Amino acid sequence: MRLDELRCFVCGSSNARLLTLAAILLSALPAWAEPVSGSLPAQWNIGAEDCAASPQPPLQVHTYEPQTFILRQSPCATFEANFIYLLIGSDKALLIDTGAVADPQAMPLAKTVLELLPDKEHKKLPLLVAHTHRHLDHRAGDHQFASLPSTQVVPFDLEGVRAFFGFTNWPNGTAHIDLGGRTVDVIPTPGHNQTHVAFYDDRTGILFSGDFLLPGRLLIEDAGAYRESALRVVDFLNARPLSHILGGHIELNAAGRAYRFGSHYHPNEHRLELARADLTALPAAFERFNGFYARYPNYILTNPIHNILALAFTGLVVLSLAVFGLYRLWRRRRSRRK
Ligand SMILES: [Zn+2]
Ligand SMILES: [Zn+2]
Repeated sequence: MRLDELRCFVCGSSNARLLTLAAILLSALPAWAEPVSGSLPAQWNIGAEDCAASPQPPLQVHTYEPQTFILRQSPCATFEANFIYLLIGSDKALLIDTGAVADPQAMPLAKTVLELLPDKEHKKLPLLVAHTHRHLDHRAGDHQFASLPSTQVVPFDLEGVRAFFGFTNWPNGTAHIDLGGRTVDVIPTPGHNQTHVAFYDDRTGILFSGDFLLPGRLLIEDAGAYRESALRVVDFLNARPLSHILGGHIELNAAGRAYRFGSHYHPNEHRLELARADLTALPAAFERFNGFYARYPNYILTNPIHNILALAFTGLVVLSLAVFGLYRLWRRRRSRRK
């Protein structure tokens, strides 16, 4: 429709014509379906002060809704206590991350996932195993899936990730995984790690954010890339429904205090789920960031390399001052003796 035709269409219109025009304009906008709702527990397995004295199952399996499972590795099995996500479509299933424990005896991840996978034509549904990023605590269980039939494991190195998902202009663009009646978008989110991606599920409206955004320490490798990633995800989600942001770990208690690094006990854990406001606040948090450490109610920004260098520098200054002080003391005593 040309502009002059449109003007004429409106000026001489009846109510019916105006309604038709509104319908045309509305149909040009993307329409996002209402996400399938699900439930999250108020408290996950929090480990124990003395894990030997209180044995517990290595994996907690939670059904968010019948086609979405959340698996939490016990803090007693690994202090990382990773969250792993299984999304079921009608043709394929997607597993996001394989957690921090390799040994299938200690952590029967593949066995548990296979039990959760439905059958299709008398066979288990094909499975795609992908990672939020290459850090070992997100892929230690990979080899448990290596020899399973109808299972494909996405490479974890940057070239492999780009090639597998078909990114030609990394970190721009999005890739799509079609699970059959359910599409998962893959959004590059480098900054914590250069291979990092987030997954957006159109069925539940959940963003699976790995270590990019979680109730814990956001460990920064590249602050500029991290901020750009935050802007990219904010933009991607701008017109889309967002139920929850679910990350790879919980490292804070409900008051926002971080657990000691390596702790197997998480009393009064912070909730796993973060919200859109946590994401939209992230770019500004990076703009204000002092390069070392900043605490927010639901996450902590920290650059571990900068902090180690600052600590080493402070140590060096203290040591130099001590040596200088001792030298002056020695000189003073020597001159007094003379
Ligand atoms: Zn990581
Ligand atoms: Zn991690």
